[in-house]
Amino acid sequence: MKAEIIAVGTELLLGQIVNSNAQYLSEELASLGIDVYFQTVVGDNMSRLSQAIKGGAERADLLILTGGLGPTQDDLTKEAVAEVLGKSLHIDRMAMDNIDRFFQGRGTPMTENNRRQALSIDGGTPLPNATGLAVGNAIAENGKFYILLPGPPNEMKPMFEAEAIPWILQHVLTHETPLYSQMLKFAGIGESALETKLLDLIKDQADPTIAPYAKEGEVTIRISTKANTESEAMVKLDKLTEEIASRLSDHLYATGDIPIEKTIIDLMTEKGLTLSAAESCTGGLLMETLTTVPGSAAVFLGGIVCYSNAMKEKLLNVPHDLLEGENAPGAVSAETAQVLAEQVRMIVDTDFGLAITGVAGPGYSERKPAGLVYIAISRRGGDTKVIELNLKGNRDTIRLRSTKTILYHLWK
Ligand code: ATP
Ligand code: MG
Repeated sequence: MKAEIIAVGTELLLGQIVNSNAQYLSEELASLGIDVYFQTVVGDNMSRLSQAIKGGAERADLLILTGGLGPTQDDLTKEAVAEVLGKSLHIDRMAMDNIDRFFQGRGTPMTENNRRQALSIDGGTPLPNATGLAVGNAIAENGKFYILLPGPPNEMKPMFEAEAIPWILQHVLTHETPLYSQMLKFAGIGESALETKLLDLIKDQADPTIAPYAKEGEVTIRISTKANTESEAMVKLDKLTEEIASRLSDHLYATGDIPIEKTIIDLMTEKGLTLSAAESCTGGLLMETLTTVPGSAAVFLGGIVCYSNAMKEKLLNVPHDLLEGENAPGAVSAETAQVLAEQVRMIVDTDFGLAITGVAGPGYSERKPAGLVYIAISRRGGDTKVIELNLKGNRDTIRLRSTKTILYHLWK
């Protein structure tokens, strides 16, 4: 099963918006076991749009179009698909009722062009829009499948998940063996290092397949296999997971799409342990990250953002001589990181105290380069682990990686 994604919109071609719909859909289709061979972007122009649809239908079995379902004259996707398939359009009653209700609720008269959003291709299936007005469409014709989705991601995604996937399973993947996938999450290792460790597996892969996923600050792979039953699939996936785990036991922290912060909160909740943080260059990102996890209140008690040297001194008792002076190690140093972690642990009275101090960049601070970061983990009744990081990337990346890395060392 081959698919092509056609994103419609002149603003995509002008570079005004990023084609995030294609990225999302490619990822979703991969997880359904559908190969995306082409992504096309085309402007709001009838003849070029028709050309893209015809070309797509030659290259792929399933075409997914996003954008151009709205009310205005430049929204042409339904007309173009109908024209290519030699079909007419009609007003879908349910979609029209939905639009009428929307305008009644707002108390404003509906303009005539809004009726266009209820148009559906004859012989197709209208796909209800739970978060907007334009109805989607799915249609099978001459052994090819066409799915039309709205452009705004907050309409496109719910429609894809609730309406398009069931349609695909029912009409497109009927003869295919189902695909089962498992996410494996790694920390404390870069993508290329991970790939090197798994190179032979990746090279020989036939079944299960291994696909790396790059998310900022996280390393994920998805392993997938086709099988007739879930238990048959799990046997194959578990065997490969075991092989991967044996090579990367220090880094594989979860099977499933779980962020490291959730793993930490869950582990510490289980053990009844508590946590506090002192942050300099991350400005609170570590605390923000921890508190995105529901139930984090049981583990994370609080912390301090000590951006300036004065705050490090006043709030966290870092000795002045450590921070300033001719031969002082400075704020960005192993010594300061250690004091910060130990002090915050004592002040907040927790089992662990975490500290991050470094240069987020761009450029130098204390004559130290961007990416030089010290992280420290102080443990009640134990010693303090201090680690020097030399991170690459821009300011955002360095802050994010510092955060993820300290969580990794805490897990480890
Ligand atoms: P509307 O009813 O808003 O007109 P539409 O289905 O006609 O929706 P478009 O007019 O093509 O869709 O795009 C509307 C908006 O949706 C764009 O301005 C953009 O914000 C977003 N959008 C469209 N296509 C994409 C895409 N491929 N990736 C990300 N966002 C997109
Ligand atoms: Mg539009």
